[in-house]
Amino acid sequence: MEPTAATPQPETTEAQQNGSAAAVETFDVHRPTDGTVVRSVAIDPPERVREVVARVRRAQPAWDAMGVEERARWLARWRDWMLANRDSISDVVQAETGKVRGDAGLESIYVEMAINFWGENASLYLADETPTPGLLPAKVRKLRVRYRPYPVVGIISPWNFPLILSAGDAIPALMAGCAVVIKPSEFTPLELIELVRGWKEEVGGPDILDVVNGMGDTGGALVDEVDYLHFTGSDRTGRIVMKRAADTLTPVSLELGGKDPAVVLRDADLERAANACTYGGFVNTGQVCMSIERIYVEEPVYDEFLTKLEANVRELRQGTDGPEYAAEQGAMTSPAQIDIVADHVEDARGKGARILTGGRRKEGAGDWYEPTIVADADHSMKVMVDETFGPVVGVMKVRDDAEAIRMANDTRYGLSASVFSKDTEHAERVAEQLEVGAANINDALVNYFHLEVPMGGWKDSGIGWRHGPGGIRKYCRTESIVSPRLPLAKNEPLWYPYTPRRRKLLNRLYRFFNARGLRNRIGLGD
Ligand code: NAD
Repeated sequence: MEPTAATPQPETTEAQQNGSAAAVETFDVHRPTDGTVVRSVAIDPPERVREVVARVRRAQPAWDAMGVEERARWLARWRDWMLANRDSISDVVQAETGKVRGDAGLESIYVEMAINFWGENASLYLADETPTPGLLPAKVRKLRVRYRPYPVVGIISPWNFPLILSAGDAIPALMAGCAVVIKPSEFTPLELIELVRGWKEEVGGPDILDVVNGMGDTGGALVDEVDYLHFTGSDRTGRIVMKRAADTLTPVSLELGGKDPAVVLRDADLERAANACTYGGFVNTGQVCMSIERIYVEEPVYDEFLTKLEANVRELRQGTDGPEYAAEQGAMTSPAQIDIVADHVEDARGKGARILTGGRRKEGAGDWYEPTIVADADHSMKVMVDETFGPVVGVMKVRDDAEAIRMANDTRYGLSASVFSKDTEHAERVAEQLEVGAANINDALVNYFHLEVPMGGWKDSGIGWRHGPGGIRKYCRTESIVSPRLPLAKNEPLWYPYTPRRRKLLNRLYRFFNARGLRNRIGLGD
């Protein structure tokens, strides 16, 4: 499946194959490891996006009517196809992202896991709810809340995890009964194109899943056409998407950037903390929204922690590998990002930070930056306040946990965090004061793999969440059904005509019940 650089062929969507013979514009997908072209891909202009959305919209009612169990069976077939093709999927992932094999493999693992998780939990999370009416007079009615899918969900995804953040986020929507159209990043569309081809051609799945390709125009057109839009990417583009969605009153969830802190308390297991921060800071070459980008270490253990972290980072092997798992650090996927990384490191160097490792681009072809520790950093430096999104961690000494909390919260982002201490309760108390959507105690990034709990950002890190019961309910509209338990009279006291006798009776009745409300709950008694 590995595409060859010698014979780049434009990748076309089904819509384009069936469309007019007009000249098709394309963009090139590059190998970040050496800059060569993997393949060129045809751009889907807005009218093609419209056609694709209309087509999956037609197929969606049958998909919804099929029910959760049958949909889970279809997705399990897709999972089995992925399992059988893991290696070739990883080859494509590596070609277009420059990831090392160990990181590329995470993509399939997560998507397979997500199919199992949502397949097992969708019927629980989407089951009708039957709340009990609070007021005695209202108990004559029975209440039911239903979750009904948005017909078509659009997903716009970034380049750092091209399957996890596209197919991975599509799975709960598909399980809810929605049709899904995904626009992957223009840097990394190939593996998703392959996965959607697998769904259509190998699995023979219903026509409720498709991919459209291109840049902002294609993404914008998708926002216009769908009933719900899930976006993952930078907060800059997230704002543009949300403004555009306002025109059609389309609801959105936005998973945006991060500047995740780690707090290392004086009683931490320093070896585990250093290992976790090495993984959390450098996995996927630091191109993770939840990367540990800044580390606050209590003064008494600062030097010892730094020594351990430095030893770890010096061991990281940078290079191009394959199934032999010969490296931990790959190339950087987006050429623009490497300029941001270099700028942050130079800014810190100029302001007096110590660059313990790396601190420069790697010579030769491709987009490579050496894994870098910026020690003695502070908040005057970009590396501690702006998203770096590369293989760089800033480390800062703090007096105590109060200062660590203050510095960790001194950011416009609020995605996730880590806290390290042998006293788990103390670590949890620190975590409770952090302004983040998720905190990992003595660990890094691990909350993402617990699909039971919501993963979403505070502040500029986003709106909404993925995972947890809300991670599938967000793809649904609620319908409340209120129906009688008992035979009904011909008229109701609330209805017309308004007469003094009926209104006084009604007022007395509600005065009686409302005056008693909350009494038991707040201990006023009768
Ligand atoms: P980006 O915002 O540049 O692009 C994201 C997607 O939006 C791409 O598919 C792009 O083509 C599309 N797009 C661009 N302009 C658009 C427009 N006007 N209308 C509609 N779509 C448009 O982000 P990126 O550089 O691909 O990804 C890196 C960013 O993503 C980082 O900030 C990172 O933190 C963030 N991210 C967040 C999460 C999370 O879960 N919170 C996960 C991964 C990455």
